[in-house]
Amino acid sequence: MHGVVPAEIGSLGKSEFEALKAQAVASRTYALKKLGGNNRGKDSRGFDIRSDIYDQTYHGRRENSEWAIRAVNATKGEVITFNNNVIECYFHSTCGGRTESGHNVFTNVQFPYLQGIADDFGKRDFCEDSPHYRWVEKINASELISSLREFGRQNNNNHPLAPGLFELRVSERFPSGRAKSVIIVDGKNNTIALEPNSIRPLFQNENRSLRSSLFRVGQPIDRGGNREIVLIGAGFGHGVGMCQWGAIGMSRKGYSYDQMLRHYYRETELKKIY
Ligand SMILES: [Zn+2]
Repeated sequence: MHGVVPAEIGSLGKSEFEALKAQAVASRTYALKKLGGNNRGKDSRGFDIRSDIYDQTYHGRRENSEWAIRAVNATKGEVITFNNNVIECYFHSTCGGRTESGHNVFTNVQFPYLQGIADDFGKRDFCEDSPHYRWVEKINASELISSLREFGRQNNNNHPLAPGLFELRVSERFPSGRAKSVIIVDGKNNTIALEPNSIRPLFQNENRSLRSSLFRVGQPIDRGGNREIVLIGAGFGHGVGMCQWGAIGMSRKGYSYDQMLRHYYRETELKKIY
């Protein structure tokens, strides 16, 4: 979900306060763009009423968190702007070390402030405390083949994959390392090439999209005719904009929320609008 510091973090406290402030500003910016962006000026009540709405989008999902409420109040009315416009404020759980350019994920998005950046300090990454920083997923091959065949049908592929042996490889990557194209070859040499945005949903496991498209393919495991595909990856989410676990890492290392926001959204400015 948008607007939430991932629930598995548990309660964040004083040492993560700057990250909570960064999240409050990011959530408010996202909500302002989403809810108010198209009809600004139509509402004669101005920002007084709306400011409530913007901040509730954050409050509502963070019940019982004293520090989160403090973060909303401490940043009251602050939003992220570029050239005096409220930005498209994307964020995600964990980048795994490098964020992604906005237009590699959202093809209609081409903003200088959504560029891919290294989320590191020296040799370590700010988001290294995330439970999703590094992961391994094992995916049942026959389930994968059936969702790929269904995908082939929906995309008018004339050569849907045959069941049986197949090969899977990342054929192209974005500069961040995220998969740009994945090639799948079945036992009869039929191939399907997956576009960037179909990779995560197609490699889902237990009805959950693959955590990120930053992965490599490991050795498959054969269990009595039942093959498991092994994906070794990093991060959680699309990778665009602020890395929430990176912000937590920065906060724990003494960075301020405005430093974090300038790190993840380059060339932007904070503005207080109410
Ligand atoms: Zn990160």
